Amino acid sequence: MGGRISVSSEVGKGSVFEVWIRAPEQLEDSFRPSGFAAVERVQLGPASLAPRPLRVLVAEDDDTNAILTRALLKKLGHTFVRARNGAEAVSLSSEEPPDLILMDVQMPELDGFEATAQIRSGEKGSGRHVPIVALTANAMSGDSERCLKAGMDAYLTKPIGLDPLRDALMRWG
Ligand code: MN
Repeated sequence: MGGRISVSSEVGKGSVFEVWIRAPEQLEDSFRPSGFAAVERVQLGPASLAPRPLRVLVAEDDDTNAILTRALLKKLGHTFVRARNGAEAVSLSSEEPPDLILMDVQMPELDGFEATAQIRSGEKGSGRHVPIVALTANAMSGDSERCLKAGMDAYLTKPIGLDPLRDALMRWG
């Protein structure tokens, strides 16, 4: 139709979608490019970035990483529950299944791979499948294949950034 479409978006504020098409002269006003009229202007609030607040179980033995992850989750509007090792992750997730688990791979007592295997075997026959996103220190170490083999759904490389975390939560949450 010889028009144009634009999108501008700011994290935490919202998005503006604009569609411009050619329209009769009398519909124009001084703010619009010559020969174009805005026919649709839709504003979406921050709710579109986090469709629902998730209860996220974070299995992480390192305090600094746990604090960082809690801050990111809070910023995205989600709830943080912490497990300090794989064994805690298994028991906390069976007591009250979270919406999603962020699972550190290297932990004392029970590592992320073994904890995931136990959670998956506990789910057998129940029809449940809690999404588990692994937190790996090094994507090049072969951890990523091990994560998927252990029953994890996806993985993020540490230190986690806000954008990759938000994307993972939207995809798997
Ligand atoms: Mn660790």
